[in-house]
Amino acid sequence: MPQFDNPDFLIIGAGAGGSTAARVLTERGFTVTIFERGGPSNAEDFIPLDELHFLDHKALIPLKEDDPQLYVDTAKPDAQPQEQERWWITNMVGGSTNQWEANLPRYVDSDMAVTRYLDGPVAGADMINWP
Ligand SMILES: Cc1cc2nc3c(=O)[nH]c(=O)nc-3n(C[C@H](O)[C@H](O)[C@H](O)COP(=O)(O)OP(=O)(O)OC[C@H]3O[C@@H](n4cnc5c(N)ncnc54)[C@H](O)[C@@H]3O)c2cc1C
Repeated sequence: MPQFDNPDFLIIGAGAGGSTAARVLTERGFTVTIFERGGPSNAEDFIPLDELHFLDHKALIPLKEDDPQLYVDTAKPDAQPQEQERWWITNMVGGSTNQWEANLPRYVDSDMAVTRYLDGPVAGADMINWP
């Protein structure tokens, strides 16, 4: 019987990251509960498979009335929250991973040394270079 009330791990979001983490953890015998804000989707949700309908992915991103979609440009000290469409986020089981385009660029050295390109530490984040 799944232990929804008292899992070993609680994961927020069922995209590629959260779902992969859940699989790895459950394969090792841990119990996991995932909270996903979007609903399930299946092939019928994408019918009529109209490419124009999905061309700019607006059929899949959250509506502004469902999601505040506020961004703050933290590089600007006096920046105020701005409402923006979050084109890259999809709220559904499977997350944005449902609509990725499958471009898989090869990693280069600079991808492994991200801190080299920062002015300094990022507040609230721990970042290390890939060993
Ligand atoms: C149109 C499009 C094309 C793309 N093409 C490519 C590509 O060609 N190559 C590539 O490498 N990458 C591509 N990407 C990016 C790639 O799809 C994402 O980087 C990847 O899917 C992110 O996975 P994730 O698990 O981090 O997040 P997501 O898949 O976005 O999952 C996050 C999940 O968390 C949920 N969530 C968020 N907040 C909450 C909350 N408060 N409570 C509960 N649930 C929450 C969301 O609903 C979502 O399901 C593309 C993305 C899009 C949208």
